[in-house]
Amino acid sequence: MSDGLNDHEDFIRISRFPSCDMFEVTEDLIFAYPSSEFVGNAASIANELEREMDYLKNITGLNPREELGSKVVVGYRRPEEGGAGRKGNWSGDDGNRVFLSWGYLEDFDKDEPMDICSHELVHPFFFVSPLHEINEFWGEGFCDFLRGPLKNFMGLEGNEWWRKKVKEARDNKQDRGGNAAGQLVIRACEWFGVVNEMDQFVDNQAAITEFVSCLFDRYAHLPMSEEFRPTKWITEKERRHSKGPFRDSSA
Ligand SMILES: [Zn+2]
Repeated sequence: MSDGLNDHEDFIRISRFPSCDMFEVTEDLIFAYPSSEFVGNAASIANELEREMDYLKNITGLNPREELGSKVVVGYRRPEEGGAGRKGNWSGDDGNRVFLSWGYLEDFDKDEPMDICSHELVHPFFFVSPLHEINEFWGEGFCDFLRGPLKNFMGLEGNEWWRKKVKEARDNKQDRGGNAAGQLVIRACEWFGVVNEMDQFVDNQAAITEFVSCLFDRYAHLPMSEEFRPTKWITEKERRHSKGPFRDSSA
């Protein structure tokens, strides 16, 4: 067993990140990287990613580390190992882990991997939230909704992000998360009566926390598709999935 990791964390780190020989550990997270290719300060990146985790723990009141039995393992994976493609991805089935694209090692970007993790690190929180059981396919929307405040918290472009998502919702864009995220932003702004003050609202941690808690209460037993407009992707996934009941949009 490696220092500071439990057996499950060690298993995820070694089996999912075969090319990462080094790692940093924080309270909720393990940052794994290949010493031969990585440029930068791994300890400071791990601490920045931990700040994202702390923010999400505060906003959601949840602790995925306790629920999933492991810290989230964030690390780089080569394309030939079944890497993350262009950006990153999280998978609970495969262990509580985030694959980062190997491309980030080749093209240094000072905002990465914090920026991509402002989406991916929301996934474990959604997974252990009351929303997940019957609103699994709204997860991308929830992640992209929280990504706005989280980006701002990290000194990235959260306002611009929210504006883009709202536009995607108004245009009824059929991607996975943008439209759904935009609808959540619009609902939150309406709820607090700040439709014209979105730029200030994105930084209002207390209000975002309250809104998230309302979502957890309301949609723990109610499909979000009852009250929000699902994209084609969500509709299709819901119809095929056994968890239902969901409305049939072709009806
Ligand atoms: Zn996602």
